[in-house]
Amino acid sequence: MGKVDYEKSRRIVRRTNGNNPYSPLFMERMTPKAKWYFYMRTKVLPQMRDADVNPRALPTRDQWLDSDMIKDMAKELGADIVGITKYTPSIMYQDVKIKDHKTVIVFGMSMKYDLMVDIGAESQEEVHRAYYELDEIGVRLSQRIGAMGFEARTHPNVGDFPLPAYGYLAGLGEVAKHGSLVSPELGSSFRLSAISTEMPLEIDGVQDYGMDELCQKCGICERFCPGGAIMPEKREVAGIVRWHVDSDKCQPYFSRLYGCKICLSVCPLTARVPDLRSNYKEMSKSIKTAKDAGGMMKMIDEKDSLNTEAFDAIPYNPEDFGGPYISKARADRDDKDSSIVFEDDKKN
Ligand code: SF4
Ligand code: SF4
Repeated sequence: MGKVDYEKSRRIVRRTNGNNPYSPLFMERMTPKAKWYFYMRTKVLPQMRDADVNPRALPTRDQWLDSDMIKDMAKELGADIVGITKYTPSIMYQDVKIKDHKTVIVFGMSMKYDLMVDIGAESQEEVHRAYYELDEIGVRLSQRIGAMGFEARTHPNVGDFPLPAYGYLAGLGEVAKHGSLVSPELGSSFRLSAISTEMPLEIDGVQDYGMDELCQKCGICERFCPGGAIMPEKREVAGIVRWHVDSDKCQPYFSRLYGCKICLSVCPLTARVPDLRSNYKEMSKSIKTAKDAGGMMKMIDEKDSLNTEAFDAIPYNPEDFGGPYISKARADRDDKDSSIVFEDDKKN
């Protein structure tokens, strides 16, 4: 199966979350810790996204040395995986101003699998924790790069580009059938962030980990997705052929399940991760009992803590998220000059 040539991608319009009618319900259900993570991520850290550049910095030594040093720093600050790729404007959202940056440092942090699979408030707290810690790493590392005399900008989850695409280009894994990056080290249980910079760094190439062949044969995420949002085959989106998740089918269940993560939780590649192997055993029992998406939803509905009635009372309207996904995607195929709406970057 072929590699995904993101350089041939057309720039896409980002889906907006501004009118999301489910947001107040999400806020109501947030734990106090999740609220603090969210406050830091939205009100404090964004002020420091762009590094202060030191005008008196000495020239750096050589590219190899700097690349290893940057990766070591990211890990020392808490990242579990780090890769570097070149700055690729073709995958930046259309409304983003292209900078004169050369490279992108992509880094990931594992999520505690047992918390992630337990869909509900604690699971969302774990998502906010991972994103908050990644944002902190991004800001600190950007500032260090700025101190070395180079412009650097942190790109958190709701940033300037879809993070899984950059994670793939940086060799951290492959974008799998469920639309998220799968890493050989962390399976599907992790989140991503990135920094773009004008610092020249040695880049890591994309890697073929055999995900395409595995996903063709597996299809577990597709079988257990309650919205039927995961497409069985790759398709052309914005000029490139890749796995695709239909946002308009995902979003209602994503809201109803207070941040659905079923597709990430059931992915058996997580069972290959040494630290998570034993936790996945419990999930495999649930998969066996539930058999399909209907069975899984029944198991989840039996958990009374989710209280989905309030979400069910709000009908899903694609206009609240910037318009219907599918019709715009079709229009894009008919008119190559028009824009396309991508799924939002809600997983990794
Ligand atoms: S988040 Fe849930 S609804 Fe969305 S694609 Fe994954 S399993 Fe399907
Ligand atoms: S669950 Fe299976 S098909 Fe889905 S991403 Fe994981 S390996 Fe691929």
